[in-house]
Amino acid sequence: MRVRFWGARGSLATPGPTTVRYGGNTSCVEITTPGGALIIIDCGTGIRELGQHLVATRPAPLGGHVLISHTHWDHIQGIPFFAPFFASSNTWDLYAPKGVRQSLRDALEGQMQYSYFPVQLDELGAEIRYHELVEGTFRIADVTIRTRYLNHPALTFGYRLETEDAAVVYASDHEPHSRHLAGGSGEIGGEDLQHCRFLGGADLVIHDAQYTADEYPQKIGWGHSTVEYALALCRAAGVKKVALTHHDPSRSDDAIDRIVTKARAELQAGASAMQILAATEGLALSIKGEGQLKRRVEHNGSAISDASALGNPLVLIAVTDRSAADTLLDAAHADQIPVVETRSADALLRAIVEKQPSLVVLEHNMDSSDALELSSKIRTLQAARDVPVVVVADAEDRKGGMAAGVTDWLIRPFSSAYARTRLRAWLLRTAARWARAPLPPDEEQRLATLHSLGILDTPEEQRFDRLTRLAAGILRVPVALVSLVDRERQWFKSAHGVEVRQTPRESSFCAHAVAARELLVVPDALTDNRFADNPQVSGSSRVRFYAGCPLFVGPSCVGTLCVLDVRPRHLSTEQVDLLRDMAALVERELQQSVAAHPSVG
Ligand SMILES: [Zn+2]
Ligand SMILES: [Zn+2]
Repeated sequence: MRVRFWGARGSLATPGPTTVRYGGNTSCVEITTPGGALIIIDCGTGIRELGQHLVATRPAPLGGHVLISHTHWDHIQGIPFFAPFFASSNTWDLYAPKGVRQSLRDALEGQMQYSYFPVQLDELGAEIRYHELVEGTFRIADVTIRTRYLNHPALTFGYRLETEDAAVVYASDHEPHSRHLAGGSGEIGGEDLQHCRFLGGADLVIHDAQYTADEYPQKIGWGHSTVEYALALCRAAGVKKVALTHHDPSRSDDAIDRIVTKARAELQAGASAMQILAATEGLALSIKGEGQLKRRVEHNGSAISDASALGNPLVLIAVTDRSAADTLLDAAHADQIPVVETRSADALLRAIVEKQPSLVVLEHNMDSSDALELSSKIRTLQAARDVPVVVVADAEDRKGGMAAGVTDWLIRPFSSAYARTRLRAWLLRTAARWARAPLPPDEEQRLATLHSLGILDTPEEQRFDRLTRLAAGILRVPVALVSLVDRERQWFKSAHGVEVRQTPRESSFCAHAVAARELLVVPDALTDNRFADNPQVSGSSRVRFYAGCPLFVGPSCVGTLCVLDVRPRHLSTEQVDLLRDMAALVERELQQSVAAHPSVG
């Protein structure tokens, strides 16, 4: 395979005197297969120059295949400037991840609306065929292409291209699943291990390396790798050559030189034969393998018998608890994800082989055969080596689950909204950023104290409303609540700034403060892995900021005085003290309820 870089910059095109050598254009790689097929990966601004080159050097009509990793701007912005899309005799195939809500065509059309660009997508002369992909394998000419979801805020694919004797992987816009790996050391497990296998033995890996390990703490959650992570995974994967790419816009040529020199010295010191370079605009590489791949493909039929990437996701559910199964069905239905239910362990194993699902959900004690045993059996099936296996249970058995190849646990009870968030994350191999609060150890005693107050579902009272009004005014936030955490809900004795009187416990921020029995401040829920996908944050309430101070009655923590905002914010130490003072006043009012109901001990 011949590989040529036309753009290696990340995020934003950055022309100028400090980026002359590595180039300022955003992502675009041209690959020519041994059989002569043209494959382009990503359409950043670099594709404009490639288009000019193709028009000048190849006979018409021009055609080829364009693989788009994702539709972030720096990977599609060159499309309206790619000359071969304008000639009516040309035919092009475009491939990209199938969106959860939006088609590829709609996504591309968006950037060519009249307010942004004078030519509409419909007016491009060439015939353009759109292919929406899921995880799996498909063929273009003499190349087998495998897709794998990367860890990025948008739906993003890594592409692995294999011919008979060489493999090239493009993995740009990917953040370590485990943050401890950002420094380049530590055990590689879970999804990072799967990523490592995806890179396995490749002759060339073109990998995201936007940040250094030193910069990473300020860039957590932005969806990019560090140089150290890229090199550690490639090394563990036995990769021959690594091209670091998606260079940060602020990275000068000299800074890239320093990164490469340092990395080479470290590899040499570690006696590694892996070659490393920084992707450079105009750089052409000829990639030839040593023939081992052919043997591997022959030995490992799954390399080409995976579910086709052009197919659809499918979830297999083997859950006998009707209410849990129905909740899962509702959740899948909401995202139009097809589900097949099986009723026995044998039927499940058969269905896995026949249908090659994208996700399997089991139940602990299903059909009296242990879920862990069943998971181990599933892992022995060639068709299910990589498929996520999730177990529905009342409690988690992390150690046993790991040994049995369980990917994750879904703990009962759960709502359809919660299951939907988790399903989506498992299918897309991303983390679900919604943690439900654990139950406090003294839960029953705590609930008994709360119920004995006789305060739940009573009318509003000035003595509490006065305090929430004060809290909102003093801290300058739109919402303040006296929130009491009941068995399955939080109920507001006083609510300043919102109409609702109660919300489910599983989406409650206060339940976290109650479980921890201490003040909880969430400066920006959207960047907090416990809350970003919580429906209070992602839904119409748009909560971004939360601060809640626990309220105690005797030894029991019954709820919080909390303040919320739709903007991220920080509280000063003085403001935190004020919140505590006001919470003490709320506690005093609750004590009066105790006086009225002396059974509380
Ligand atoms: Zn990017
Ligand atoms: Zn991106």
